[in-house]
Amino acid sequence: MQISFFGATNSGKSTLVNAIAGQQVSLVSELPGTTTDPVRKRIELPGIGPCTLVDTAGYGDEGALGAERERLTRAVIDSTDVAVLLRSGHPSDPIWESLLHKAAIPVVAVEGHPVISSEGEVEGHPVISSEGEAEVERSQPDFSSTVEMTIRRIAEALPREEERFLTGSLVKPGDTVLLVMPQDSEAPKGRIILPQVQVIRELLDRGCVPVCCTPASLPGALQNITPNLVITDSQVFKLVNETIPSGTPLTSFSILLAAAKGDISTFIEGAKAIDTLRPGNRVLIAEACTHVPDTEDIGRVKIPALLRRRADVGVDIAAGNDFPEDLSPYSLIVHCGACVATSALVRSRTRKALLAGVPITNYGIALAKLQGILDRVVLP
Ligand code: SF4
Repeated sequence: MQISFFGATNSGKSTLVNAIAGQQVSLVSELPGTTTDPVRKRIELPGIGPCTLVDTAGYGDEGALGAERERLTRAVIDSTDVAVLLRSGHPSDPIWESLLHKAAIPVVAVEGHPVISSEGEVEGHPVISSEGEAEVERSQPDFSSTVEMTIRRIAEALPREEERFLTGSLVKPGDTVLLVMPQDSEAPKGRIILPQVQVIRELLDRGCVPVCCTPASLPGALQNITPNLVITDSQVFKLVNETIPSGTPLTSFSILLAAAKGDISTFIEGAKAIDTLRPGNRVLIAEACTHVPDTEDIGRVKIPALLRRRADVGVDIAAGNDFPEDLSPYSLIVHCGACVATSALVRSRTRKALLAGVPITNYGIALAKLQGILDRVVLP
């Protein structure tokens, strides 16, 4: 979950973030605009669990630097699950509140400006519920009770998603599930990537027997077990499909993640655009994080190569927060599995793509489609 703090520059966002975190996450000063880039802090909060607090640079500052601060602040909206808005009476407050509402993000509004007294104490100010003016509470005796109430209101505002399994209805207790996990140069050194760890843990929780292999050890694994389901890294979809018995259900980590974080039917619909790509069309590969690509990179190398085999298309890469505002040049967007991003981010980008009339799909679905086996894979 990502909880982001919005407000005009010097409205007290950093003071509130530091108080909630119980430590100095952001530098606090009386000088406006002390926070220039969004500052992130991972934390475990009571009633909320593990989450990331994001202290944004704010808005309402003049000049080129102010405009850049606002651009960086806007980019944070996309991945936000709950927004805390510090209303300090700045004329831009209602504009930003309406931006957050338009993005369907629950807003916990904090009214007033936290003031640090000469004794170094932060003086109290009222907290307003996410429902707006109706529940103004003006009786917090001190700043710490305001902080407690803010945390409580954030917990109440969090989207209550039905707890879902990544593997959905694909497994039952006692099933043997074979996981094909290439440990190539793209795999991080000395560890297993997050989606694979999550699936292994979930299969154990669900009473299944997960068995791991690499593409090279897949034939040997099949001599020893008869899997009820095979989950593969989508990069080796074709090879795995050709190796396992034809009736064995097959899916990929990326497809499980796409279903958990985004709208799988939109992604499957979007993949149909691969058939209509023409020379000169542009495709946007959108990555949710920033990483150093290598020669086997799935988004930078493998998917573009497969797309160009279909048609001589141009490919642009948008990494991290650099998702373009203008999507009109694109005939298709292929989004990564967003393993380290929030589902709010994937949903927000999907909404933007659909609003712009651009089909959107994800790595796993695109790879299954490009390798001609989309009809063969099972969905959670
Ligand atoms: S967030 Fe996206 S680009 Fe980054 S590692 Fe996960 S799937 Fe790959």
